[in-house]
Amino acid sequence: MTQDFADRQRALPPVICYPPETLPAPDLALYAQARAGATKLSEVIVPPREARVFEVPAGHFFRITSVEGPQVGDLNLHSLHDLSERFFSGKTRALHGTHVSTGDRLWSTLPHLRPLATVTEDSLDWYGIDPHGGSVHDVIGTRCDPYTHHALTGGQYHHCCHSNLTRALADYMQVPRKEAELLVHDVLNVFMCTGFTRDTGQYFMKASPVRPGDYIEFLAETDLLGNLSACPGGDCSASHSSDVAACFPLKVEIYQPQQESLRGWQEASKSGYDRSHG
Ligand SMILES: [Zn+2]
Repeated sequence: MTQDFADRQRALPPVICYPPETLPAPDLALYAQARAGATKLSEVIVPPREARVFEVPAGHFFRITSVEGPQVGDLNLHSLHDLSERFFSGKTRALHGTHVSTGDRLWSTLPHLRPLATVTEDSLDWYGIDPHGGSVHDVIGTRCDPYTHHALTGGQYHHCCHSNLTRALADYMQVPRKEAELLVHDVLNVFMCTGFTRDTGQYFMKASPVRPGDYIEFLAETDLLGNLSACPGGDCSASHSSDVAACFPLKVEIYQPQQESLRGWQEASKSGYDRSHG
């Protein structure tokens, strides 16, 4: 290969794979108006190194808040009436980028591919992208899990987010953990600050900027089952998959808008592709 060719190829401008301009855009002004008159229905506290499930009716808001200390959360979302329709981290990343914020949507798995939720508020919007390429609320990590931990260290650890999510879902479904485990999926890493190193392209984490009172809020675009783990990594500044890090609870609140305040809004419909595959 000639140096000329290599230089020319490397200099080609990037092409955005999925320009999002033709996606149906959420009416954030309508959402904000509905949120202003909404009342709180319920709240769930997720204990450190545990997970809890919560149901959110379509057209309701749910807010995840850091309480007591800096804490990262691993969020799974399912369609309430078909738990096999789940959050699709990979396609959300392809459509909206490595980290999500206000106006971005959390998409569901094929063959459904519809927005499960829309980010309506994010108190960590200010962070942006830091000099290392790090940002907050990533869809590039998976979830800490005991299998990777075992592969790397040979250890047995039972409070990785994967296990926490598995226990919480099994309790909700009243099925054995091995059955519920198959529905646990790649997460939205709420409040986690991550990126890829510029030189080696490796996944990195650094201390989350989250402080008690910080929150991210969503509108449920269909009836949802949420499952949130308070990661054993705490603020994920140093370690995870162990009991070493300081860990704090997370709070989930559900808000109901006043009737008619979401006038014109419709529950997200499933993909219009005909599924004949040619
Ligand atoms: Zn975790």
